[in-house]
Amino acid sequence: SNRLDSKVAIVTGGASGIGSGIATCFAREGAKVVITANHNVSGGQQLVKELGEDNAFFVQQNVADESDWDKVIKQTIDRFGKLDVLVNNAGITGNLTAIEDESLEDWQQVIDVNLTGNFLGVRAGIRAMKATNEAKGSIINISSDASLVGFPFAPAYSPSKGGTRLLTHSAALSLAHRGIDIRVNSVHPGWIDTPMVPKDIYDQIIPEIPMKRLGTPQDIGELCVYLASDESQYATGSEFVVDGGIRA
Ligand code: NAD
Repeated sequence: SNRLDSKVAIVTGGASGIGSGIATCFAREGAKVVITANHNVSGGQQLVKELGEDNAFFVQQNVADESDWDKVIKQTIDRFGKLDVLVNNAGITGNLTAIEDESLEDWQQVIDVNLTGNFLGVRAGIRAMKATNEAKGSIINISSDASLVGFPFAPAYSPSKGGTRLLTHSAALSLAHRGIDIRVNSVHPGWIDTPMVPKDIYDQIIPEIPMKRLGTPQDIGELCVYLASDESQYATGSEFVVDGGIRA
């Protein structure tokens, strides 16, 4: 169908996992999609082929690098003329270690990518939507169930995702109070079948999921279609949990 006809979207970390599921759903609905990732260039280019080179392209980007955001926005506007939708999806877990063994370096890296990267994206997205899209648009931050409760295995992960959750609320309020029609929402996936989740812990986590299966990247992509489309025009500053019932 064509729920996103004529929309231009950026999906960070779109070369694999949840991001590629989001990009695939967006392209199916008629959007033009810019896919970014810091690594996995071949995965990004492969996905562009699948989505069609007229509808998508790949840009290598570190979301924690300010000047990389200028590059991504410039290439998006040069090629597709405007920005309607930004999905801040890129993220890392950080070291799986006891909290007292966590290094400052790992902590800082997770905060840089997951939280500061998300801030740089929100800022760049709003500026681009103001400049090219009559200050309209939708920003979707991929947070996590782990932003709502602690995650004992990776010390920096929950704090970084809790930060993106409140960044979402703050940005949404700042925009709505000024009458700017750019909406900002967060998505909170539970366990999703992607390269981020080691296969050898599946037996351990599946019994904890009420629906007894991990989610798919498409499960998250379908929600993002709604949030990217004008169907969600009254939703801003909201948290959307998709987790097979874990938080029920
Ligand atoms: P993934 O590892 O397949 O995807 C992460 C993507 O982000 C990759 O394409 C990677 O190249 C990219 N990336 C990492 N660091 C980057 C950087 N500095 N700059 C640009 N790109 C970068 O994992 P995924 O499960 O698809 O994760 C996507 C998002 O979903 C993450 O934010 C993750 O925290 C979140 N999430 C995942 C799960 C899950 O169970 N898989 C659950 C909740 C939230």
